[in-house]
Amino acid sequence: MFWRQGYPDSLAPESPSWLRMEAATVVQSSLPALLFSKIESSGIIKSQTFVNHSFIPPTIDKTFQMWKEKGLTSVRHLYINGRFASFDELRVKYNLPHSQYFRYLQIRDYVRSKITNFQTLPKKHAFFDVMNSPSDSKHLISTFVRLFDGCIEVCTDKIKKAWEEELGIWLSKAVWDKSLAMISSCSINSRHQLIQFKVVHRLHYSKLKLHKIYPLVSPMCDRCKVAEGTLSHAFWFCTQLAGFWDKLFGWFSRAYKTTLQPDAELALLGCSQSTANIPTAMRQSLMLGTIVAKRLILMDWKSTSPPSFQRWLTDMTSVIQMEKLRFTRANSLEKFSAIWDPFLNHLDMTRTR
Ligand SMILES: [Zn+2]
Repeated sequence: MFWRQGYPDSLAPESPSWLRMEAATVVQSSLPALLFSKIESSGIIKSQTFVNHSFIPPTIDKTFQMWKEKGLTSVRHLYINGRFASFDELRVKYNLPHSQYFRYLQIRDYVRSKITNFQTLPKKHAFFDVMNSPSDSKHLISTFVRLFDGCIEVCTDKIKKAWEEELGIWLSKAVWDKSLAMISSCSINSRHQLIQFKVVHRLHYSKLKLHKIYPLVSPMCDRCKVAEGTLSHAFWFCTQLAGFWDKLFGWFSRAYKTTLQPDAELALLGCSQSTANIPTAMRQSLMLGTIVAKRLILMDWKSTSPPSFQRWLTDMTSVIQMEKLRFTRANSLEKFSAIWDPFLNHLDMTRTR
């Protein structure tokens, strides 16, 4: 609504009052022009020529009002067949008088200053297709998220280096990129995704980090009280957690009949170089299993005792039920069976013993 109706003279009578109030605060421009003008080239094409803070002449020269009445309303209209039109071409198409050549030079100079290679119509960014889609279009928000995601490049080298230093390993770029990519697909549950995102990006407050902020807070681990509470210690190296992680990796080894040694990379980041060859189904269940384990560690972050393995099994049972619903809705129960049957069969076997 903000960008669809943001031009001062395009507000519909039924427009909400907040939109009028917002529009009234913008002088010599428009809400859409402000929104789009920072986006190079394609943004300028979208922004209107006549209500634009970066092109002053229309605010003092009412001739441009006549251009607008004749349908020449935006920079996009200055292009004919993909090329920036000559004055003669515009004059014929929009029935402009010869005397307005100077305005044409003004607007051409403006466009030239904003768009590199302005003679050719810039390629329209997919962003504007989304902006112009009906607001009830399917997958509108996810398309927005994907577009923004593709535009944002975040350097994670520092985070990767911090993990390497703490774990005493070298993380290959492939493993690191995969661990980042797997965050959004690790579970249907957004809370699980958030846990994994925060762990991988080192966003939790370790005792060591708290000590750096508040020197009076002890940097020592609350669980074992004998080592510094770094993030890798709090999630993995703490001696109090060793038994818990041993049981978890032992469980997966027996359930999937694939020997798996406890692996810090896998437990913390969701994937590891040494486990690249294990079956895909097992990798997927491991990813979710380690997230549920980390959730239990986080739930008792300040506890002196380790999380209960039995509690992990109970939580996994309910998580697997959710996964079953997800696969049922996607009509891919076979895939669910491939991933989770070994886990559930092993669970049945241990219960009947
Ligand atoms: Zn500890």
